[in-house]
Amino acid sequence: MSEGASKAQEKRKIQAIKGVRDILPPETALWNRVEQTAHEVFATYGFSEIRLPIFEETELFARSIGAETDVVSKEMYSFDDRDETSISLRPEATASVCRAYIQHNMQQLPQPVKLYYMGPMFRRERPQKGRYRQFYQIGAEVLSHTGDLKDDARVDAEVIEMLTTFFEKAGLEGTALYLNSIGCKECRPKYVELLRAALTKVKDKLGPDSQRRIETNPLRVLDSKLESEQAIIEKLPRIAEHLCPDCLEEYTEVKKQLAMRGISYAQNFRLVRGLDYYMRTTFEITAPGLGSQNAVCGGGRYDGLVELLGGPPTKGIGFAIGTDRVILSLQDMRKLPVERALDVYVAWMGEKNYPAAVKIARRLREAGLAVELPPGEMKFGKALGLADKLGARYALIIGDDEVASGQFTVKRLEDGEQKKLGERELVAYLKAGEAP
Ligand code: ATP
Ligand code: MG
Repeated sequence: MSEGASKAQEKRKIQAIKGVRDILPPETALWNRVEQTAHEVFATYGFSEIRLPIFEETELFARSIGAETDVVSKEMYSFDDRDETSISLRPEATASVCRAYIQHNMQQLPQPVKLYYMGPMFRRERPQKGRYRQFYQIGAEVLSHTGDLKDDARVDAEVIEMLTTFFEKAGLEGTALYLNSIGCKECRPKYVELLRAALTKVKDKLGPDSQRRIETNPLRVLDSKLESEQAIIEKLPRIAEHLCPDCLEEYTEVKKQLAMRGISYAQNFRLVRGLDYYMRTTFEITAPGLGSQNAVCGGGRYDGLVELLGGPPTKGIGFAIGTDRVILSLQDMRKLPVERALDVYVAWMGEKNYPAAVKIARRLREAGLAVELPPGEMKFGKALGLADKLGARYALIIGDDEVASGQFTVKRLEDGEQKKLGERELVAYLKAGEAP
């Protein structure tokens, strides 16, 4: 490379990768609030946090999510490690929770095991509003080897109750819950054949994607947003009418349990999940202000997944909330973050008074006040201007007189009221005036 070329390259501004974004203040305050709400609500339902790796063996996802799904076949970020094991950035975390459950013999713990996680996921999708290549999920899973169908239904309903509580506490309004059962390995294959046959009859009226899916994954046709296919989809056979007795019993019980809890829902026969491991109860929650990417949570039951990954027979139910979309919806509703306000701006003058400013700033911070101490000396007017811009409630003036007398001048910026106070009264005065 010529020197000129490398110079030009040095100067090129490096941008974040397509589909990946920075989350900046003050928005981060909203993220923290939402995540804190999840920590609190989930704890009240007896869930504990699990922290999982960001990357795993590719096979974990291929085996659990399904090699034929969009997520695994084209959306994963995969690379070979030095020993040539294929590794992937996680596109979701249920597989990892199940892997961890097996690896740490959690079947020996009191059942059910209730875990939640939060963090980034990675899928190479077409970026658009509410759809990113690095996005965030808050999810929870209940794993257990005990209980009958009726117990399962109660667990499903409690998990959904926890979700509605979370959305309510997070301040999200206008959410809708959609419910479906997608059967089990007994009844679903029979239904899929029925669906395939019905789709084959109308094949020439379908778009190319759906035509292809007749062979690869007919359930996904139900998910189609294509305008011309909507009337056709309405007339297709519906799985709820083809469930086996066990699936029907559980589905009926889940609905009863939701009604008992006063949770409203709409049944949606078109709700199929994009990941292979789901069975029976599936659900989705939508929120306003998101355009077509309006699903803020997807979830369902996945009995058998742990077994598929080499563990003991285990039932599972879980969900993943799309945090980015929750934030977008809150912003759309003008539920904007309230950042911690700055309490005190220290306007110090005279190099020799800097140590006194450091000392008092530390004292105030120890008392829990938010304090800005500028590193360089400033003219008084400029310092006050900055204090104002930063939204400080008080300016604390430290100059020769203050240091000599031990009496500090404090100015309330809202109305300009000034007071001279010793260090101890100063702390008490500022604390008393603290924003609630
Ligand atoms: P969608 O139909 O919106 O693609 P999905 O079925 O792929 O969703 P899941 O895999 O069930 O979604 O993930 C659960 C939630 O994670 C979704 O409801 C959504 O809120 C969020 N989510 C999924 N993919 C993305 C993405 N690329 N960017 C932002 N959020 C996402
Ligand atoms: Mg998707």
